[in-house]
Amino acid sequence: MMDCDLIVIGAGSGGVRAARTAAQSGARVVLVEGSAVGGTCVNLGCIPKKLYAYASHYATAFEEAAGFGWSHTGLAFDWKRLKDARRNEIVRLNGVYEAMLEAAGVRLVRGWARLAGGHEVLVETPGEPPRALTGVHVLVATGGAPAKPEFEGSQWAINSDEVFDLPRLPRRMAVVGGGYIASEFASIFNGLGAEVIQVHRGAQILRGFDSEVAAHVQKGLCARGVELLLDSKVQVLSRTAQGVAVRLIDGRVFEVDVVLNATGRRPRTDGLGLAEAGCDLDADGYVKVDAQHRSSLASVFAVGDACSRIHLTPLALAQASQVVDLLFGSGSQSADAERVVPTAVFTDPPLAAAGLTEEQARVRLPKGRVYTGEFRPLRHTLSGSPSRSLMKLVVDDASDRVVGLHAAGDDAPEIVQGFAVAMQAGATKRMFDRTIGIHPTAAEEFCTMRKVTRTWLSAGQPPLGGDE
Ligand SMILES: Cc1cc2nc3c(=O)[nH]c(=O)nc-3n(C[C@H](O)[C@H](O)[C@H](O)COP(=O)(O)OP(=O)(O)OC[C@H]3O[C@@H](n4cnc5c(N)ncnc54)[C@H](O)[C@@H]3O)c2cc1C
Repeated sequence: MMDCDLIVIGAGSGGVRAARTAAQSGARVVLVEGSAVGGTCVNLGCIPKKLYAYASHYATAFEEAAGFGWSHTGLAFDWKRLKDARRNEIVRLNGVYEAMLEAAGVRLVRGWARLAGGHEVLVETPGEPPRALTGVHVLVATGGAPAKPEFEGSQWAINSDEVFDLPRLPRRMAVVGGGYIASEFASIFNGLGAEVIQVHRGAQILRGFDSEVAAHVQKGLCARGVELLLDSKVQVLSRTAQGVAVRLIDGRVFEVDVVLNATGRRPRTDGLGLAEAGCDLDADGYVKVDAQHRSSLASVFAVGDACSRIHLTPLALAQASQVVDLLFGSGSQSADAERVVPTAVFTDPPLAAAGLTEEQARVRLPKGRVYTGEFRPLRHTLSGSPSRSLMKLVVDDASDRVVGLHAAGDDAPEIVQGFAVAMQAGATKRMFDRTIGIHPTAAEEFCTMRKVTRTWLSAGQPPLGGDE
């Protein structure tokens, strides 16, 4: 007799969802966690990051308020107060998660787990002998961790896990990387008052997002004060009396108080005993899974950042629900491939997107149309901010379906989440056109785009018309 029906390793986004819903459907569940319940998202990712992004947005909000008649004096920012408030909120959330798990009947075991076979997990808790647990199924939901930088002197850089609790708000900061995490922290610390230099090896930040929309955000970040060094790489970091000296490959040198390296994340699968137990990993250490999230070992499943190259909480949640449905439910939940995955970058200005980029659509679809709208949001007619929003629809000509929807500008993430439902439902451009807008909003732009900006005929072909 096994100890339980499901052992979940890791109480992050995917693990908590899987453990809770499996227990609610009657399974006996053990959840093993070596650190704080809630995982990356709650403790070191989405939630604290978004709280800091809110804090940084107040800087511009105070500035812009003057255009609406407000005047204020004596503004000051207290980094310690923000850190304490964040910490209290995270502790509250940890408690909410633990209570939720307990109410569902999940047995939470504290310690670091290692697979000892298809049905056996060893748990090590400091100061205690290892404990063996057996389960009919095992779910690996161990998430990921910041990748180590490759440049010399990397010990002088911090990573995103360490950035939330910096003892002092840096006056000068270098952020290395051009992905969403790097760009968000560059934006946050710039908003909080630091002089930020973002160093990125590519020609444009936010690779993988629609390049026209990413370029709009890049321009906005620079306008807000982030100094962007593109096509640049760090060669070496060295300690100085005041902080850290950054030498770039082209010979440029500058000094900052803090260097944040955010050049990628890797799955947390080292030392988990997966390969030894017969569970295949790919070259980068991700657990190899099929469409049902089953690994090469029939009783072992994986979800979230441990197996997926798209690192997003809602994706880990959806995958966890899918596995639980397969093991303890009807098995009818759809696989990832059938889903639109909306995503956002919480920079200032923010970006959000659902579906295909124009670049992807041009490769995948023989004929299509692009609609764009760039405008000054109503708020900024008085705020004094030069900020403009960009919205974009990518449409498949054959079906008239909106296959890509992108926004850069105020409230973009909130707007795109709503439209993602329409896209998941297969909405056509005609349906967008028939939808009545809410006036005056920025979101209504998506329902009023009538003029085609450009079209394409087939992959790699020049456009049929428009402004290219
Ligand atoms: C700075 C930052 C910002 C982010 N912002 C967003 C955002 O805005 N929106 C979004 O959707 N996503 C965001 N993400 C990504 C999101 O946090 C992850 O995709 C998500 O947390 C992945 O969930 P998971 O369940 O796979 O793993 P995790 O949430 O990482 O949880 C894994 C858990 O497993 C535990 N664990 C690991 N190994 C073991 C072991 N051997 N034994 C026991 N326990 C173990 C860990 O301690 C951890 O608690 C962000 C990530 C970062 C780093």
